[in-house]
Amino acid sequence: MVTITSVRAAISGGTLRLGPLERRELLKTVFEEARGCVACQLAGSRTQVVFGAGNADADLMFVGEAPGANEDRMGLPFVGQAGKLLDRLLEEIGLERGDVFICNTLKCRPPDNRDPHPHEIEACRPYLLRQIELIEPTVICTLGNFATKLLRGDPTGISRLHGQVEVRVIGPRAVRLLPLYHPAAALYTPSNLEMLRADFAQIPALLKEGPPPQPPVQPEPAPGLGPGLVSEPPPSLDPGRLPEPEPTSESPPESEPPLEVGAEQLGLF
Ligand code: URA
Repeated sequence: MVTITSVRAAISGGTLRLGPLERRELLKTVFEEARGCVACQLAGSRTQVVFGAGNADADLMFVGEAPGANEDRMGLPFVGQAGKLLDRLLEEIGLERGDVFICNTLKCRPPDNRDPHPHEIEACRPYLLRQIELIEPTVICTLGNFATKLLRGDPTGISRLHGQVEVRVIGPRAVRLLPLYHPAAALYTPSNLEMLRADFAQIPALLKEGPPPQPPVQPEPAPGLGPGLVSEPPPSLDPGRLPEPEPTSESPPESEPPLEVGAEQLGLF
C-alpha cells in the first residue's frame, strides 16, 4: 500500500517526484476524507465538498478562496464568472485547465458567500496542505487575500504583495509562490484586470525556472490529517474577502437539483 510515509522516504531533496499512480491513489484517499469531513459547521450547509480539479501532476497550482453557489452545485472549483476569467487568463499564457490544478482554501461553500471564518480555514488547512504535498507543484498562485495569508503565514494583504514571487517552504517542499488578485476582483474593475494580466505574464518564466532549491528531508510527521505541515503559525486573518459578483444569468435557478459530482470528481485528477 502506498502511504505518505513510503512516499516521503522516496523523496530525496525534493528532486524525485511521486509517480502519477501513487499521487492519484493518495489524492483519492484525501478526497474521500474530505467528502466525509464534519470538522466545521459548513458540513451542514454544503451541497457537496469541492475538493479541486485539474492535473494531479501539474507544476502549477492555483488556490482560491472558497466555493460559491455554482461550485457548490457542480462540485467543481471556479465554474462561474471568475472561473471563466481564469480560463481566459490561462489561455493568454498558453495554458488550459488540464495543465494546472485548481482548488480553494475552503472546500465547502460558506453560506451566502460570506467570508471564511478563521476556524473554518484552520479546519480545512490540512486538506490543502496534503494536496500541495501530493501534487508537488513548483509554482503556487494564491488568488486573493485568504489563500495568500494562509500560505504565507502572514497577514499582509494582496494589494501589497500581488506579483511578487517568493520562495516559501510549505510542508516538506519549497515552492515559488506568486500572490495574485482574485479573478473576481478583476471582473468589473479594468485596472485590476490589467494588474492580474501583468502578474499572470510572469508564470511561464517561473515554470521554466523549475523547482527552487529544496530543504533537507524532514523527519516523519504524525500520520493522518494532522495539525498541518507549514512551519509558520496560522495567520491572523483580517477581513478582505472580495465581494461576490452579482448573480448572473449563468447562476443556476434555485430549483435546479445539484449535480452530485461525488465519485466522478476522482476522474478529474
Ligand atoms: N470559485 C471558487 O471556486 N473559488 C473562489 O474563490 C471563487 C469562485
